[in-house]
Amino acid sequence: MADRDVPFRDKAIETASREEIKRIQTAGLKKQVEHALNTPFYRGRYKNAGITSPAVISTIADIRKLPFTTKNDLRDAYPYGLLAVPREEVVRLHASSGTTGTPTVIYLTQKDLDMASDTMARSLTAAGGSRGDVVQNMMTYGLFTGGLCFHYGAELMGAMVIPTSAGNTIRQLKFMKDFGTTIIHATPSYLLHLHAAIESEGYDRGELKLRKAITGAEPHSEELRCKIQDKLGIEVYNCYGMSEMNGPGLAFECVYRAGMHVWEDRYIMEIVDPETLEPVPDGETGELVLTILCRDAMPLIRYRTRDLTRVITGPCECGRTHRRIARFTGRTDDMLIINGVNIFPSQIEEVLLRTKGVGANYLIVVEKDGVLDRMTIKVEITPEMFADDTRVINALRERIRDELTALITIRPLVEIKQPGSLPVAEGKAKRVEDLRNS
Ligand code: ADP
Ligand code: ZN
Repeated sequence: MADRDVPFRDKAIETASREEIKRIQTAGLKKQVEHALNTPFYRGRYKNAGITSPAVISTIADIRKLPFTTKNDLRDAYPYGLLAVPREEVVRLHASSGTTGTPTVIYLTQKDLDMASDTMARSLTAAGGSRGDVVQNMMTYGLFTGGLCFHYGAELMGAMVIPTSAGNTIRQLKFMKDFGTTIIHATPSYLLHLHAAIESEGYDRGELKLRKAITGAEPHSEELRCKIQDKLGIEVYNCYGMSEMNGPGLAFECVYRAGMHVWEDRYIMEIVDPETLEPVPDGETGELVLTILCRDAMPLIRYRTRDLTRVITGPCECGRTHRRIARFTGRTDDMLIINGVNIFPSQIEEVLLRTKGVGANYLIVVEKDGVLDRMTIKVEITPEMFADDTRVINALRERIRDELTALITIRPLVEIKQPGSLPVAEGKAKRVEDLRNS
């Protein structure tokens, strides 16, 4: 592809020299530290570390003087401990998907939202989207940023956006055909599901104008991307984001699809060894740590994403100077992503432990069921319960399912087990068996 074919939203920034990017980052970091000192959470944290003013930052390397921030910190600061502006300036709230315990929330001013939309528009443009595209957003609308934050970014780019949200595949297909959808946004598992539906509903691929899919929210392999591209005859772009960092599009593939550019004028990225928390050399895998520079309402500095990746060294053919990261190889914590929804095993344990009749041991099994994920919770029950009527046992199973559904938003299968029938671990209990990649 010749250089002139590479689309940019803001070429000067996207191809800025590394020195210029460092200058922007240093100034941005200083501003964020100043903001952070306005929040009860960081004021306390920084005071303990002897940091009382942004003067602690004079070069970007000084970021290492600042403590890390974790997901637990966000929960501790719930609801308003990270608010850096008067409450009246906040115009929207989002939260991380899945969790209903203490969710991790983010708040945004109008300026923050404008920045989030601009970042998303920049990402979509980098992937070859443009004014005139018809973009159908098949991600859930609501607290989850994959709905609204993607939506406004696509509108800002000038696309016509169809907010179908997730599910209802028959209607998705009808809209795609009738309105000439050119770009869709969905999880990788849903893209496969969509392909199966195109075939089973008897659509002729020629009736659809589809040319690209943007996918993310859950880990997937290069093989899966290729499979979706082949089956649907389209280009598939990987998109990374999280609610804590303003949603999708903080890292995105350009038309060369060779790793995701992190927008370094808006995010400072570090990759650290998750044990020592020291930086790893470029190209080596470690935990991605991010600092958001484009948000006033809620600063997050050196946020440990728990996602494992590496920097792809060397320049990208598109000419962008913002570094790229590779596909994620996993997470350092035990968070499971089931059909795009984030779930911690501890949430499941919480439900089981408070349910009368449930015994000492349980196991969470995750498998592929066609293109989707299936979760089964195997639970031992107490000897007294096991001796009871099958009707009582069945009622217990349904109660566990209902309570789990209320907490984690997806409905798992529950298998009741005889006391002592599940394997007992000798060391650390193994609570999760993830068979999806085996
Ligand atoms: P999402 O619903 O997009 O997953 P959340 O904020 O609820 O947003 O969760 C963010 C997490 O989702 C990330 O920390 C990461 O683990 C995962 N994730 C998001 N995008 C991708 C992607 N493209 N590849 C792999 N994992 C992803
Ligand atoms: Zn590129």
